[in-house]
Amino acid sequence: MSNLKDFSCIGGLEKHIRIVKEMVLFPLMYGDVYAKFNLRPPRGLLFYGPPGTGKTLVASALATECSNSERKVSFISRKGSDCLSKWVGESEKKLEKIFLLAQQTKPCIIFFDEVDGLAPVRSSRQDFVHASVVSTLLALMDGLDNNSEIIVIGATNRIDAIDPALRRPGRFDKELYFPLPCYSARKEILSVHIKSWKQKPAQKFLAYLASKTLGFCGSDLQALCAEAVMCSIRRNYPQIYTCKSKYHINERQLKVEKEDFLKARQNIVPASHRIIIAPIKNLSVKVQPLLQEDLANILTRLQMLCPTGMLTSDNITGKATSKSSVCPRILLCGDDDSHTRHLGPALLHTLEHLPCHILDVTTLFEETDKAAEEAMIQKIKTARRTLPALLYVPGILTWWDLLNETARVVFTSLMRGLDRSVHMLVLMTAHCRHSNLPLEIAELYDDNHGEVYEVRLPSAEKRRSFFKQLFINGGSSNLSDCSSQGDYSSKTIVYRIIIELNRFLTNAADLVQILSPKKLKGENNRKLRSYVHSTNSNGLLEISAARSKKIKMESKARNKLGSVRSSHSTSSKSRTNIKREYSASGEGPPSKRQKLTSGVSSSTEKFFSSQIEDLIEMIVRSTNEWPSHLLESLFSSLELTMEHNGDLCATVNEYVVRYEELKRVKMRAQQEED
Ligand code: ADP
Repeated sequence: MSNLKDFSCIGGLEKHIRIVKEMVLFPLMYGDVYAKFNLRPPRGLLFYGPPGTGKTLVASALATECSNSERKVSFISRKGSDCLSKWVGESEKKLEKIFLLAQQTKPCIIFFDEVDGLAPVRSSRQDFVHASVVSTLLALMDGLDNNSEIIVIGATNRIDAIDPALRRPGRFDKELYFPLPCYSARKEILSVHIKSWKQKPAQKFLAYLASKTLGFCGSDLQALCAEAVMCSIRRNYPQIYTCKSKYHINERQLKVEKEDFLKARQNIVPASHRIIIAPIKNLSVKVQPLLQEDLANILTRLQMLCPTGMLTSDNITGKATSKSSVCPRILLCGDDDSHTRHLGPALLHTLEHLPCHILDVTTLFEETDKAAEEAMIQKIKTARRTLPALLYVPGILTWWDLLNETARVVFTSLMRGLDRSVHMLVLMTAHCRHSNLPLEIAELYDDNHGEVYEVRLPSAEKRRSFFKQLFINGGSSNLSDCSSQGDYSSKTIVYRIIIELNRFLTNAADLVQILSPKKLKGENNRKLRSYVHSTNSNGLLEISAARSKKIKMESKARNKLGSVRSSHSTSSKSRTNIKREYSASGEGPPSKRQKLTSGVSSSTEKFFSSQIEDLIEMIVRSTNEWPSHLLESLFSSLELTMEHNGDLCATVNEYVVRYEELKRVKMRAQQEED
């Protein structure tokens, strides 16, 4: 990539480039046309947003574009702090010189990077030198008329640190927000940075990488690509670190592999994460059976509540189908706090293209010298500047009682003030039912317009699918993301292998021989004992005697069947290979698996499946009306029990007893309160 950057070196900022062209470049290039139609270009344009999001890059691309255009447009670029001088009156002179140069070389664009350093908020505490520089800049900008063919662009990461006078009409009258890139923008930025590579990673992998780099700004992505190259060099040419003379690196053959990117990803902490840690997280595979349906329902509701285009990264074109008079808003509530722990973060993840502003207990009280109401006003103001935006208010009840009367009134009136025309989605969560909320909050949401979504306690069906994962997928070690998928060493897998092996036992005598049948049988019996073990202490978990009898009979039948089969076995090499493969990975393509088990679905298979089903049913029965956090906790304990070959029934029992006790204590406390 050459050092001169044009618009093709920018990824994911098409809208910004179009606006900059229309507002800055075209008025200077086609001044006569603009004048004829009385179109007035802005005198100043302010770029703002988190660091590393491409503000300076867009300005320098604009400079390249200016020098390429037929009608030459000059470009003067200065850092805010470069214009300052320690000598009194010197800074003002520097500024005047810049504007004079612009007059002489017009049409011209003046670009002030880090303009907050040049024109900070004037206050009584500040020295008069700064105040004088700000006044000079204001005067110089006022001196430009609309046809002066000079446009000033300022860039800042801290828009609130700029003197408000500079943001009045006639000065920086247009503001352009540079957000953190969303998924598709990240994909484009990655493509830009690998554009010049000889051997590029596949598009599919870039898409995967983009999905794994949430919160990365443009410069983080650039750093990621650079670090991946370094990882590849380290891997391919470790000798350069020890070699004293220059070693020849064949850059044509240097291929940056997926593993290099993944390693680089681990080494980079995105700038945004260094500033705030937003709870943005997709639903984990583990909790999906419990919450996937709710997430889908909420997204359907949002489609009705939000104007068309808001839920995708497209332009907002239509109106919301909801007849509500206020801005799109939804309240996730209910006694189960999964809305705050899982659904809220998952929605932020889905809507990551919307700049997210969080109003929670930490943001409200983070500045000790600021009252809560001030923090709220500031937050909403900032959010309004980045429309379309998302305002996330998690767990409102955790801080509502901490607010004084004024702050509460301010909050509710701010919320009411956000009318339909404001494209801000307010996502609030509350750990109670809508009817139990304080009236002021409850009234902000209209249930008739679908603005209230109550998350119910997981149904029996959801709990069944949730706990089935323990046995079908080999526990959550296998459910986390792909990076940990290869980790099959954990003992939880033993259970699954036993189940799978028993499926194959009937038609795979050769496999049985390989894995030493005696040992296998012993292991199976041990596992079985732990499954079948019934704890009668509170009568909750009893697997009937009849069932045990049936098990014994089936076990006998299995032994007979096994011996008959082993005498008929054919030891075809390819078959053995397939089976080996399955036993190693724990699963295989369903079609193949069906082939292996079809026709010989034995009593053994049914026997094991029915044992597991019994166990799952027992768990489902015992966990009626349980909140999801407790279900998750039980899931983890069961996993641990499996790892240590412990007694699953006892673990469930222990939890049931503890939960009952907890409920009793809560009820007593409630009664006392009443
Ligand atoms: P800032 O917003 O702080 O001014 P810069 O424009 O200086 O950020 O970005 C720093 C570097 O990050 C750029 O030189 C560029 O390599 C990379 N970068 C940032 N945004 C983008 C983008 N949208 N497309 C491509 N590269 C980007």
